[in-house]
Amino acid sequence: MTIEVQNEIEMKAFGAKLGGFLVGGETIELVGDVGAGKTTLTKGIAAGYGVDEDVQSPSFTISRVYDALSDLRLAHYDFYRLHDAGIMADELHETIHDPKVVVIIEWAEIVGGVLPADRLTISITSPAEHARRIDLVAGGENSRKLLEKLV
Ligand code: ADP
Ligand code: MG
Repeated sequence: MTIEVQNEIEMKAFGAKLGGFLVGGETIELVGDVGAGKTTLTKGIAAGYGVDEDVQSPSFTISRVYDALSDLRLAHYDFYRLHDAGIMADELHETIHDPKVVVIIEWAEIVGGVLPADRLTISITSPAEHARRIDLVAGGENSRKLLEKLV
């Protein structure tokens, strides 16, 4: 599935729509260059999922966790500056298997072995300054169902 947005507001709105379908237990991998809009999309997803707090890029802290509705949480990772998966791989493995947590990962290559096959992979490219092309690929049954809701 591919969609195009024309600006940051549309990107966040798309994220919010996706976030509204998340129930906990999903893993989303975000792929794209620096500045593609991965964190911006995550802000939208978080809002739709019920996170009240302001989502900040985890590029320095590597991970940030937010409370959502009920006792759901959002774990947002950015492994751009991580050079050794080490202990992070263990932590990630735990959050990925927690049904109360939605996991969103930027720069996931270094922890590739830990990612579940059934994840939603979202790739963002930038054909023009504010336009973004968003490609969504489902790796399994749950993410396929999620994609179907988005159509
Ligand atoms: P990444 O996390 O992929 O490095 P960010 O979301 O941090 O990217 O930054 C994206 C930048 O691009 C922001 O400065 C944002 O304002 C800008 N931008 C411009 N148009 C868009 C768009 N359509 N969607 C998302 N971000 C956009
Ligand atoms: Mg980012």
